[in-house]
Amino acid sequence: MSHTQGELLYEGKAKRIFNVSGESQLIWQEFKDSFTAFNGEKKAEMKGKGQINRAIASLIFQKLKDQKIPSHWVADSGDIHMITQKLEMIDLEVVVRNVLAGSTAKKLGMAEGTALEKPLVEFYYKKDELGDPFISDDQALLLKTVRHDSDLQKLKDRALQVNAVMLKMFDEAGIRLIDFKLEFGYDSAGEILLGDEISPDSCRLWDKQTNEKMDKDRFRRDLGDVLENYQEVLNRLTK
Ligand code: UDP
Repeated sequence: MSHTQGELLYEGKAKRIFNVSGESQLIWQEFKDSFTAFNGEKKAEMKGKGQINRAIASLIFQKLKDQKIPSHWVADSGDIHMITQKLEMIDLEVVVRNVLAGSTAKKLGMAEGTALEKPLVEFYYKKDELGDPFISDDQALLLKTVRHDSDLQKLKDRALQVNAVMLKMFDEAGIRLIDFKLEFGYDSAGEILLGDEISPDSCRLWDKQTNEKMDKDRFRRDLGDVLENYQEVLNRLTK
């Protein structure tokens, strides 16, 4: 079924969100060519980025669908557009870690690259003005981020299922999945679906042979060849 782009609803840092004409339960997402980091303090435009991220996100959503893990993905439209189910988003960033990196390695006094015996799932409160702080489960309930207390466990279980599928997918592509961030929301039936995107913007991905970074840390830490690495991730996932 073909869909028609409706009016602009919202412009975010990495995406523009439109209605889908005549479809109240769908939205039309456009992946922009912009990079932002450190809560929007660092910015850049790189032509072709939206197309690469849309392609990677679609591949992952389709792989999850094959494994019966529901997400908002409905269809692709051209190079930079994706049609998704409309969700009422949960104000949590659900982070899964297989290997310690970045500020968490520092916080725990362990070296970046320390592999974890089992994956960690953590909740961060999605609030730009607070800098998305780490919060406990009880704080997540106090903030009424979810409709039912048991939904926090559902989010953790779902995040671990996604992790299992993605670990295999990236391993087969010669890439180590270090950590990543997911966002979830409620659909019109009240079901929890995976939303947002999964891409090198929201994952740490290291080359299996060299441990070279292939993700947004190249942008955050000025390592160069940002888009070349994103393209290489896509090439390996599709080869
Ligand atoms: N992440 C993200 N958006 C955010 C915060 C984190 O996509 O707003 C991703 C990030 O790319 C990384 C993972 O979530 O893959 C963990 O990020 P965090 O900032 O917690 O890293 P730390 O440096 O604390 O390990």
